[in-house]
Amino acid sequence: MFPLRRVGSKALEQWKAPIAIVSRAKYSSNAPQPLSVLTEDELTMKDTIRKLATEQIAPLVRKMDDEHKIDDGIRQMLFDNGLMGIETPTEYSGSGCGFLTMMLVVEELSRVDPSVAAYVDIHNTLVNSLFMKVGTEEQKQKYLTKLCTEYAGSFCLSEPSAGSDAFSLKTVAKKDGKDYVINGSKMWISNSDVAGVFLVMANADPTKGYKGITCFIVERETPGLTVAKPENKLGIRASGTCMIHFDNVRVPEENILGEYGKGYKYAAGFLNEGRIGIAAQMIGLCQGCMDATIPYTLERKQFGKDIYSFQGISYQIAHLQTQLEAARLLTYNAARLKENGLEFVKEAAMAKYFASELAQTLTSKCIDFMGGVGFTKDYPQEKFFRDAKIGTIYEGTSNMQLQTIAKLIAKEYTH
Ligand SMILES: Cc1cc2nc3c(=O)[nH]c(=O)nc-3n(C[C@H](O)[C@H](O)[C@H](O)COP(=O)(O)OP(=O)(O)OC[C@H]3O[C@@H](n4cnc5c(N)ncnc54)[C@H](O)[C@@H]3O)c2cc1C
Repeated sequence: MFPLRRVGSKALEQWKAPIAIVSRAKYSSNAPQPLSVLTEDELTMKDTIRKLATEQIAPLVRKMDDEHKIDDGIRQMLFDNGLMGIETPTEYSGSGCGFLTMMLVVEELSRVDPSVAAYVDIHNTLVNSLFMKVGTEEQKQKYLTKLCTEYAGSFCLSEPSAGSDAFSLKTVAKKDGKDYVINGSKMWISNSDVAGVFLVMANADPTKGYKGITCFIVERETPGLTVAKPENKLGIRASGTCMIHFDNVRVPEENILGEYGKGYKYAAGFLNEGRIGIAAQMIGLCQGCMDATIPYTLERKQFGKDIYSFQGISYQIAHLQTQLEAARLLTYNAARLKENGLEFVKEAAMAKYFASELAQTLTSKCIDFMGGVGFTKDYPQEKFFRDAKIGTIYEGTSNMQLQTIAKLIAKEYTH
């Protein structure tokens, strides 16, 4: 009997990836730039993150997935490299980069570990952004600097009975003298296993319906706040997702972030931006999965030939790569629109919808291309497949994206 032998690929060890991203410097014309043309700064950041992710995160991906926890050293590395304040101005210890750069970081991290990318993405797009846009100078001084250098933040909107219908939330904040007292529970809160600060959407005046929803800053050590143990999830297992309970959690009035009663607006607005981050997570994940799969198909021999030479394989790969390129262009376009202050809501929903649906098909197909070994934990495809599933759920399910897109299409035809 011959021992069963798995055919590995040297290319897999190097996470080799041919990506057709080119520098803007090569284009001298004043005409609009192609979407796949990046500035020198954007390219530098993309390359830097690729190197960091490949050298420092890749060796720990399996361990972190098994232990349901992002390695402490990796979290520190993210702070040390300015990735926990990508868009945050340098005066608050951030990196002061643009929105597209932030998306490139998320994409490159996801190519190696979508859990680490979720940690960085949610912290930057939902927590830091809210502080930056609506925080007072005191709040920014007090919290933004720490969010860039010391601790992660969580965005707390969803509840056990308020998911897609988020504004039916039941957590209340009752005024008591100069304080507010928060009671209720939040569910599915990313980063809450380690977060130092929580942005909590609570209704300060339920008689006003969703117009009573207000955003409160709650520090982790505040008495009455408890974080449950992380959910045992299918994918992005290293990203801590916990339930949080608020039992008479008292915060001063100064802890209202932005305007009283505007929490629903902030949540909706920032989730629109955040969706581009999830699209970036999904395209990075797809690229990582392809980069681990294509070299294998070029090396694996059956019927005396490499399996890539069978059109049944290579045409499917060509089809998926084309769809991935379309998803990337949708994502970069939404990011460029947002970065330039243009309308982006429909494009963001389209990017998230398309990229996350594609991620499910693409990762499943990659397992097929690998055959039996793709079904094992010795290769990365099974993890990408599990991680892809979250894309169609969080920051608005696919149906919710379609609802947004459909509403905006109707508006275009009925103005
Ligand atoms: C890993 C993970 C991390 C998360 N992180 C966060 C976080 O950091 N902060 C946070 O606030 N939340 C977070 N969430 C919550 C997430 O945003 C919600 O799970 C999501 O919005 C869906 O809500 P739900 O789970 O209650 O599903 P439901 O709303 O119950 O939806 C169930 C199904 O019904 C469909 N559906 C619902 N309403 C309609 C409708 N009107 N028309 C058509 N179909 C509909 C949905 O599309 C879905 O298919 C996270 C969730 C997960 C799983």
